[in-house]
Amino acid sequence: MRRKIVAGNWKMNGSKDLVEKLVGYIRAEVESLDNGVEVVIIPPAIYVGDVVVQAAGALAVGVQNVSRLQSGAYTGEISSGMVADFGCKYALVGHSERRQLFGESDADVAEKVARLLADDLNAIVCVGETLDEREAGNAEAVVARQVEDGLARVAGDQWGRVVVAYEPVWAIGTGKTATAEDAQSMHASIRKVLAGIGAPSEDVSVLYGGSVKADNAAALFAEPDIDGGLIGGASLVAEDFVSICRAVP
Ligand code: 13P
Repeated sequence: MRRKIVAGNWKMNGSKDLVEKLVGYIRAEVESLDNGVEVVIIPPAIYVGDVVVQAAGALAVGVQNVSRLQSGAYTGEISSGMVADFGCKYALVGHSERRQLFGESDADVAEKVARLLADDLNAIVCVGETLDEREAGNAEAVVARQVEDGLARVAGDQWGRVVVAYEPVWAIGTGKTATAEDAQSMHASIRKVLAGIGAPSEDVSVLYGGSVKADNAAALFAEPDIDGGLIGGASLVAEDFVSICRAVP
């Protein structure tokens, strides 16, 4: 059974004050939902401990990045073991901002996914094409390569902890969302690629991200291969984020 997930990626935004106001409100609202959605808060790593306390078990918590290394003399890195130690359940891997601004490769993604799965965490692996790649007709091929190479080290019994997030780069933070039809078409294609690499493709949750807002979430989430969303800007606005969580059918 695929899980329905709405995850809020705060990126490099937030404060202790925001944690207190936002997470408490979201927790209270989400507790009354009966659509089975799992809500995940993904703050900057330094706030994770505070978010775990505020989430009080009603919301899952994740980090935006994790080291591909296990432990040792790697100044500034945070290991998957530490992420688990703090009560997190999820980590994003290969967000397009990490790929574009910090040079992360598909090989890095594969190593990070392997580390997370070894520590019993859930990996949300982000994939998506740029505008140039889409206009050149290469969107599906680019995303297929990211899925195949990024998930190359997943073992048979680990697929239950893998989530894919399709985030077209041109839709992130731009207010331009993929149409529900275009997103559905890419999600169906991702599921075929997953089947091709031996994953139980009907059981893997595939989320959509990129300018998901309170007023477009329902149409996206109604598509058969869209299992929820990865939300940036709207995850920082309490009412908007809760509306998006409610929009899961
Ligand atoms: P926006 O929702 O702000 O477009 O960001 C999407 C995203 O990158 C989530 O990871």
